[in-house]
Amino acid sequence: MSATTLVSINPTTGEEFDRFAVHTAAQVEQFIAESAAAQRQWATTTTFDERSKVLHATAKHLRKRSVELAELMANEMGKPLASGAAEVEKCAWVCEYYADNAADMLADEERSSDLSQAWTVYEPMGTVLAVMPWNFPLWQVFRFAAPALMAGNAGMLKHASNVSGSAMAIEDLFRSAGLGEGLFRTLLIPSDRVAAIIGDPRIAAVTLTGSEPAGRSVAEAAGRHLKPSLLELGGSDPYVVLHDADIDEAARICADSRLTNSGQSCIAAKRFIVVDDVYDQFRAAFLAELEAAVVGDPHDSETTVGPQARTDLRDSLHEQVERAVEAGAEIVLGGNVPDGPGAFYPVTVLENVGPGNPAFDEELFGPVAPLIRADDEEHAIALANDSSFGLGGAVFTGDTERGRQIAAHRIRTGNCFVNAKVASDPRLPFGGIGNSGYGRELSELGIRTFVNAKTVAIK
Ligand code: NAP
Repeated sequence: MSATTLVSINPTTGEEFDRFAVHTAAQVEQFIAESAAAQRQWATTTTFDERSKVLHATAKHLRKRSVELAELMANEMGKPLASGAAEVEKCAWVCEYYADNAADMLADEERSSDLSQAWTVYEPMGTVLAVMPWNFPLWQVFRFAAPALMAGNAGMLKHASNVSGSAMAIEDLFRSAGLGEGLFRTLLIPSDRVAAIIGDPRIAAVTLTGSEPAGRSVAEAAGRHLKPSLLELGGSDPYVVLHDADIDEAARICADSRLTNSGQSCIAAKRFIVVDDVYDQFRAAFLAELEAAVVGDPHDSETTVGPQARTDLRDSLHEQVERAVEAGAEIVLGGNVPDGPGAFYPVTVLENVGPGNPAFDEELFGPVAPLIRADDEEHAIALANDSSFGLGGAVFTGDTERGRQIAAHRIRTGNCFVNAKVASDPRLPFGGIGNSGYGRELSELGIRTFVNAKTVAIK
């Protein structure tokens, strides 16, 4: 039987933080009907300028409520307060970015042909369903919602079941900013009700950010109903350190990336591939960086790594570490589940890892770093590409032009940076290939994902 209550557990204490009644089938039906009607109005009666005002107001409300929202994320999924405040600021930025640029991105484009005149015009599609994860409870939602709303679509959110408070806060933020009733709605439902909603004729498209299994199931339902879909899934991002890299700087950036969001980021560095010449030097610097991390209460300003978001996720991460060890990995740092309440996991480093080991082949969604020794540059690139995923990656080298060539043409991912950690930015397209998903969010590509690019021509 489907759940009737969604419970948020504080991962620092293990105690219940809040609970929410699941929306009934009748409520969901009402929300979808309201959304369809509101979207038709929004698409046909508002200008880009009017939509832009609502998005700018949303940015203001986000900033005004930054402390409260950061506190909510700390309590629901353990994000350290400073990271929460930075996430709120990034959400305000993406709202302003699309508020300021959507009109240009979706302007009619004149094209030459044998006809006297031809254009591409961009029309909204309707209501877009977004199935979202808990790791960036606000950012993942705003990066879909800001372009969707500016394009004239409506948004409907099915958030991860452990962050319903954040989901309701987002609906409230849009309402306070003056967005019309029904244009952004949170559905408090468990995941087993998603496929039926995708099949509803009033749902135009679906976007999912989450794990591979969830992606497969959402894409299957979208395929069955011939709905456009976008998938932002997991990754096992390779960070390749070459012989001429600034090793201390590379170690600092690699550690910082691995520990982003307490290790729970899709684009955190997840495999550290270091050429033999500099392996020992990198190992020492990398360990020093990771040993300096402070695991603790997300409310404490000293904390750099909070608890994992849920104990079941922490336990499955530990089980991956155990399987990695059984397959020959050695634990160099961490590796033990601490006593006491909460979903804490220590910063952990594994060595003697290669293809066939779970720490190499699977996504490690937590503060666990496998160190991988490569014979030389070619071997390092081959190891980087030996993955079913293809989200992000990075190359560290003193020769930035060579790094650019490797990033652009040798490493198979949707994002590859040189001497920097991969980070999302409203101005840069974002997405993966392979089992990391398909489609692009952010930039002009993101806003053009859920629009009808229509050809209009005159004889
Ligand atoms: P998850 O378990 O897949 O959940 C994500 C969302 O999908 C939740 O709302 C979940 O609802 C829902 N869901 C789960 N199974 C479903 C199904 N069979 N049908 C429909 N919906 C389903 O992932 P997560 O643990 O929240 O997030 C971690 C994963 O997301 C990692 O793999 C990470 O790399 C990936 N991620 C990717 C990106 C990116 O941009 N590429 C960004 C962030 C995270 P319930 O909570 O109710 O189960």
